Amino acid sequence: MIDDLVQEMMQRFNKEKVMVYNTIQMYRTDRLDFLRKSYEHAKQNNYMIGMKLVRGAYMEKERKRAEEMGYPSPVFPDKAATDQSYDDALRFCVEHIDRIAICNGTHNENSSALLTELMLAKNLSNNHPNIWFSQLYGMSDHISYNLAKQGYNVSKYVPYGPVTSVLPYLIRRAQENTSVKGQTGRELSLILTEKMRRRQ
Ligand SMILES: Cc1cc2nc3c(=O)[nH]c(=O)nc-3n(C[C@H](O)[C@H](O)[C@H](O)COP(=O)(O)OP(=O)(O)OC[C@H]3O[C@@H](n4cnc5c(N)ncnc54)[C@H](O)[C@@H]3O)c2cc1C
Repeated sequence: MIDDLVQEMMQRFNKEKVMVYNTIQMYRTDRLDFLRKSYEHAKQNNYMIGMKLVRGAYMEKERKRAEEMGYPSPVFPDKAATDQSYDDALRFCVEHIDRIAICNGTHNENSSALLTELMLAKNLSNNHPNIWFSQLYGMSDHISYNLAKQGYNVSKYVPYGPVTSVLPYLIRRAQENTSVKGQTGRELSLILTEKMRRRQ
């Protein structure tokens, strides 16, 4: 399984600093437990773990597959539960930041703000080498730019590859961006509010 492979690579290469990261989708009911176990394994075997935290982009597919194949859905039943699990994972990582490096892969303003608050509470510098924020290229620049201006480590995620290979990715983004309730709706309302403010 891919997780076993990544664990082996972390054990081999993440001795002094984190070179290898796993991705954990926090909409999955088993991932907080997985995070805790990964940390325990790293502690016992004296290496560091890298975790890119995301909520997860394949919710419908996961549920459909589970239903078709007759096993319980691996995804939380609602958004609130996913949000809780995501933020709990952030708390766990910051608590153990000496051994865990994180990439906070989200466009959620609350989870981005939460991480800055957790860092402040633990007196960690804004540019702590084990903490990165990341948004997709072309999305949520208001989060990326404001964080970067305050000296946090920020990256923009740029997918690349042959068009046929990245088509599923582009379709997912198109779907997210056409939903008024989704990401673009949120960004649009922020832009409109700012336009109104500047008119006054
Ligand atoms: C830098 C970066 C890298 C990424 N890499 C990956 C990756 O490797 N793999 C991957 O799968 N995704 C990846 N994503 C996408 C990510 O998983 C999310 O789909 C996307 O970022 C939206 O979640 P959010 O936290 O930004 O915002 P939000 O709008 O707060 O959350 C939306 C997410 O909440 C969850 N959700 C929504 N409704 C429900 C519901 N009814 N029940 C349960 N959960 C629900 C879903 O995960 C949904 O995508 C990445 C995102 C970023 C920013």
